[in-house]
Amino acid sequence: MTAVVRELSRSNSEEAEWKLRCDMAAVFRACARLGWNEQIGNHNSLMLPGDRPLFMINPRGMLFRELTASSLIVCDLDGNVIRGKGELRKVAFHIHARIHLQNPAAKCVLHVHPQYLTALSLLEDGRMTLSHHNDLILGDRIAYDDAATGPAASNDEGDRLARALGDKTVLVMANHGVTVIGPTVLELEETVRYGGGVELLNVAPCAVSTFATGVPLTIVTQTFGLTLVWEQPDWKPTGIPLREEVPVML
Ligand SMILES: [Zn+2]
Repeated sequence: MTAVVRELSRSNSEEAEWKLRCDMAAVFRACARLGWNEQIGNHNSLMLPGDRPLFMINPRGMLFRELTASSLIVCDLDGNVIRGKGELRKVAFHIHARIHLQNPAAKCVLHVHPQYLTALSLLEDGRMTLSHHNDLILGDRIAYDDAATGPAASNDEGDRLARALGDKTVLVMANHGVTVIGPTVLELEETVRYGGGVELLNVAPCAVSTFATGVPLTIVTQTFGLTLVWEQPDWKPTGIPLREEVPVML
């Protein structure tokens, strides 16, 4: 860790990368605390600023709760590890690199397997049943991918996932889990908390519980919709470090 800190403190860009590493480490800790990951099978990534397209991601073989700022690796969009020690998992590469490449808004990409949401994804035609307050945030932001045939083992499959996500924020992946995107770590985290994660986690248990009753659902066809702060034309990133924003989750 000391070597990485020393290396990353040589320039402003390296200092900036170190702060992003700390924010991403906070994301991994929050996900671990919330129980969203399964063993070593999940991955979160962040595109780095700069001319060269590089993204930061967790290396193969580490649990979310074990990850630190210095243990994250930096890779190019061809899957080469540029900085850090460790291996880029192929399935992580095919999902994250292709979504980053195909969707400029997807600076930060979170791919996890929350229990209830994954259970929902296992149901035939599994769809969210949104109460009006959840619909405010999520109504127009969820895409569903029902066409997956197995783990993402190629760039073609990554490209297909990117197309399935389209301009939405949340991709519910049938028989699998969820992928959530955002323009920065903080805004992704806000999306995760308010529009993707806690909401999804609240929505998914609610949906699964509702289905379990066997009673026909009340279907509301109107989508309320709400423009998130970071979707407004004059939005600018707050620059608030995630680790200072959500200490309660860490
Ligand atoms: Zn997965």
